[in-house]
Amino acid sequence: MPHITINNCPICNSSDIVNTFNAVDHFSTKEIFPIYDCSNCGFRFTNNFPSDDIIGRYYDSPDYISHSDSKKGVINRLYHFLREFMLKKKGNLVSKFSTGNRLLDIGSGTGYFLKAAKERGYSVSGIEKDSKARNFAIDTFGLDVKGEDFLWNINSDSLDVVTLWHVLEHMQNLNEVVDKLFNILSKDGTLILALPNHNSYDAGIYKEYWAAYDVPRHLWHFTPATVEKLLNKHQFKIIKQKTMPLDAFYISLLSEKYRGSGKLYQYFKAIIVGKIGFLLSLSNVNQSSSVIYIAKKKKN
Ligand SMILES: [Zn+2]
Repeated sequence: MPHITINNCPICNSSDIVNTFNAVDHFSTKEIFPIYDCSNCGFRFTNNFPSDDIIGRYYDSPDYISHSDSKKGVINRLYHFLREFMLKKKGNLVSKFSTGNRLLDIGSGTGYFLKAAKERGYSVSGIEKDSKARNFAIDTFGLDVKGEDFLWNINSDSLDVVTLWHVLEHMQNLNEVVDKLFNILSKDGTLILALPNHNSYDAGIYKEYWAAYDVPRHLWHFTPATVEKLLNKHQFKIIKQKTMPLDAFYISLLSEKYRGSGKLYQYFKAIIVGKIGFLLSLSNVNQSSSVIYIAKKKKN
């Protein structure tokens, strides 16, 4: 079965799901994928997406900077600038909300966040599906990083912080993963998720061209309301939401590129949309292009 068809909402299990629009894989294949909304709980997701055994080729592009270290081009340079800024912000968040020092980063990529967390005194490990990125992290920083199946071998109650920076939207078995996260965290453990927000100002401007739909790599399209429903279902409670205001600039620039705007216009428009999105997100987390969620286990 090369494609996975979803008939019931992954969050509330309702069969009342509607194909509201279609999105194009701008990044890699130009294939079209249907986007569905659940009429009951409002959850949005990609449907008929490639199964695990063939999804790999959709990640195959020299441009896929999350998995590479290329510094070519303005978008990549902007990405690297943002990465440095965000590493600091992520590290501060972890320090502020964690209660112990055993940290796992899922989707750890080339290992920059793990390295930064290690320098802050955390006992760190990572999980990364892509073997090139994984080996880079191991060889360059001497980090302990395993393949994706390792998640299922982790002992219960063995971690104090688990981070997924823009990763959960890629993971096929959504409910099983969140259940496992609950299981591996200690009683006072902290779950930190960063996810795109399709209710954001920039998503409203770019609609089906919004770069963070990123089909079929992004399977689940969250908002603060649907993240709360998902986490609540799995006995987590959100204790804090933080904006990722700079993401609006980067996502806007990519969206303009996908819309086919001229180079100069791309930058001009991305700065305008990014700036408005940035300013709006400062006062309202719901407007932020991406949101960081800090969650703890519910106390019974
Ligand atoms: Zn639903």
